[in-house]
This record gives sequence, structure tokens and C-alpha cells, in this order.
Amino acid sequence: MKIYSYKDLTKQEVEEICLRQLEDDVNIQERVKSIVERVKMEGDKALFDYALSFDQIRLEELFIDQQEIMTIAATIPAEAKAAIDTAYQNIKTFHASQLLQEDKVETMPGVTCWRETRAIERVGLYIPGGTAVLPSTFLMLGIPAVLAGCKEIVVCSPPQKDGKTNCYLAYVATLLGIERIYLVGGAQAVAAMAYGTASVPKVDKVFGPGNRYVTQAKQLIQGNTMTAIDMPAGPSEVLVLADETAIPSYIASDLLAQAEHGIDSQTILVATSSKIIDETMEQLALQLQVLPRAAFATKAIENSYSVLVNDLEEGMKFSNVYAPEHLILATDNCERLIPLISNAGSVFLGNLTPESAGDYASGTNHTLPTSGYARAYSGVSMDSFMKKITFQHITTQGLRHIGNTVEVLAAAEGLDAHKNAVSIRLKSLD
Ligand code: NAD
Repeated sequence: MKIYSYKDLTKQEVEEICLRQLEDDVNIQERVKSIVERVKMEGDKALFDYALSFDQIRLEELFIDQQEIMTIAATIPAEAKAAIDTAYQNIKTFHASQLLQEDKVETMPGVTCWRETRAIERVGLYIPGGTAVLPSTFLMLGIPAVLAGCKEIVVCSPPQKDGKTNCYLAYVATLLGIERIYLVGGAQAVAAMAYGTASVPKVDKVFGPGNRYVTQAKQLIQGNTMTAIDMPAGPSEVLVLADETAIPSYIASDLLAQAEHGIDSQTILVATSSKIIDETMEQLALQLQVLPRAAFATKAIENSYSVLVNDLEEGMKFSNVYAPEHLILATDNCERLIPLISNAGSVFLGNLTPESAGDYASGTNHTLPTSGYARAYSGVSMDSFMKKITFQHITTQGLRHIGNTVEVLAAAEGLDAHKNAVSIRLKSLD
């Protein structure tokens, strides 16, 4: 892993190393554009073809129904079922706590404004399933969608080797009351949910992380259809900020937990001493030896680097430019750093808070902005599944109070019809 010394880097060099891999994005853009176009034109036929070419599965049907879901779900091992149940409860508790009712506000006597939330009616959830099937993502997207009251929840995930889905996804579907899983992966799944096909219903908003094809497709449909997206959530990344109170074996385990996602994951270690970096690298090599997904992790580590900083404050400066999806503060001194964080998807405090806890079960959502988008986007939450509609009501007293202000501003903008909509009412009051 390459090591940079923060004090030797210019501002421009810091910005350059904080850029995620963008070199072949043009290629991916072109490939995804053609996939999306084909799905738009050919619908289900394209989905069957892509299942064969990308997932090596000859599908007979593009979905599994409730009966099959129940049969597959019944095969889940008891231990996994109990773990999913615990995660489900924690995630539900945390997300339910976000459902706050706002107060009505009287901005002037007789002028009342307020907001009400309504669920987005049709949502599409993409559950990654290329290199690993992620029932945790199904929980993270499905729970807030159900709690928000979305009427139609369309779920797409790549078909597995047997041409079905696995028992974990099926069990989560039973918990959420979802009756159909579409066996569609990658960019084609996003396109299918955005345009609709004979089998896959069109939705109003597409959610979910995925590889670069998925992320690119989401960005493409956002610009070209009436379908919104949650955020660009691409290859996972973590930044660990560590001082001498950190434990190198723990840091190594956190770096590898991200690295094993895929070859384009990125893991950054920012440390206040080269001793921590060296010891972490030793631990990393040891832990890598016994990792089943070592091939992915090794490649991802090659894309990663360490930064040597003077102190934790300097490390926070770097972290805010990088804007990591996951930020781990591997230090006993994390409390004082919290106010300094301006850009991060989700933050893990102290040596006993591994990022995996948030990935699966603590309660927070793991669908988070990657690639620096944490500068402007939040992770998925209840808000992502709802719209806020504003309301206002004006009484006689209110119209007398606000009328002249509106008339003057409308006249200043030369919009006489706007002015008249108030004047005509004020006259009738006189
Ligand atoms: P995936 O489901 O995202 O992608 C698999 C699909 O990619 C396949 O079904 C196939 O249709 C398509 N595909 C594969 N090769 C292709 C090619 N050459 N051309 C076009 N399409 C192709 O699963 P994955 O690949 O395992 O990736 C999951 C990703 O999700 C990882 O990068 C992981 O880091 C990321 N992730 C991110 C978050 C987050 O919150 N940001 C959370 C979990 C996972």
C-alpha cells in the first residue's frame, strides 16, 4: 500500500489522490448506455439475454413468486434467521424514530404554513448479488420503504447459480411482506425499473447500491426519465483515522472488511505515526492469508493508500476532502473530533465500533454516498422514501396582513396577473 506524507502534499495533490477511479468511466458510460437503450426498446427480451450473458443463467421466468419465496425462505438456517430478526428489529427501531411530525407555523397572524409527508408510491429496490448476495441491503431499503407506506415495492436482484434467489433474501422478503423478487441484475435492472417492461413494473424512484454498472445506470436514468434515484452509491470505501490509541489488528480487519466487497473498493488509512501504518500492514498481510475473498481484497488494497499526518486534526482535514462513505475514528479521543467532521456518509466512533456493525445490525442505514458524494448527499433514511408537501392557509385577517407585500413584489417583477390575484380578493373584502 502506498504511503503519502500529508505535509509533503500540495492542495492539488491532496485533491488528486482523493479522486476515485475515474479512468475507464467513459467506457462504462458507453456500455451502460447501450444496455439501458436495449432494455428500453426490447423490454423483457433484453433482460433474458443479459441474464444469460452477464449472469450465465438461462431464465424461464424473470421473477420468483410468493409461493417460491416461502419455500426458499423455509430453508434458512436457524442461526441466520435469528440474526436477521435482530438486525430487522434494530433497523426498524432506528428508522421509525425518524418519523417526526412537524408543527404548523403562523408566519403572520392569519397566515399558516406547514409540511406533510407522503410516501413515494412506487419504489424500486436494487439488491446487489453479483459477487455476494446482500440480504442486509434488502433490510436497509425494505424496512424504510414499508415504514414509509410505499404502495408498490419492486425488488430486483441478480439471479443466483440455480436461477433463483437465496434463502436469506427470500426470508427478508417474507419479513417485509414482499411477494415477488425480480431476477434481474446490473444496469439492466435499473433500466427495467425506470422504463418498465412487460414483467417489471415502472417505479418513481430507484434505490440501492451496486457496482459501477448499476451506479452509472442510475445516473443515466435520472437525467432521462421521470424516475428519481436515491444517490450515486457505488463501490464501497472506508477511511480509518487512527492515533497511537488504535489497535492495528482491528484497523486491518476494518480495511479488509471494505476491501473484500470488490476490486474497486477503496480503503484509506490516515495515521498519526508510521508505526501504526507498519503494524497495520503486518496485520493486514496476516489476515488476508485466511480470507476467502482474498483475491478481491488484494486488488482493492492495490487501489488504496495510507496518509501520514501530524495529528488527528490534520487527519480530519484530509478526511473532509476525501469525504468517505464510512469514516472510522480509531482512537480513544474521538469525541473531540465529531464537531470537525463535515463530509462523511456514516461515522464509527472508537476502537470497539467496527463498520460491520453498521453494515448489518446496529440500526443505521448502510446505503451511503460513495466517491466523494458525501460532500452533498446523505445516506438512505426515511426521508428518502417520502416527499414533503407544503401547505398554506390564509384567513381574512391573513390576507389583509400579507396582501400589500405580495402586490408590491409582483409589481416589481412586472407580473400583473400575480398582483391582481391578491388585489381582486382584497377589493372583495372591502
Ligand atoms: P451487483 O449486483 O452490483 O452487480 C452484478 C451485476 O453486474 C450482474 O448481475 C451483471 O448484470 C452486471 N455486470 C457484471 N459484469 C458486467 C459487465 N462486464 N458489463 C455490464 N454489466 C455487468 O453486484 P457486485 O458486482 O457484487 O457489486 C456490488 C457493489 O455494491 C460492490 O461494489 C459494493 O462495494 C457495493 N456496495 C455499496 C454499498 C453502498 O452503500 N455504497 C453497500 C453495499 C454494497
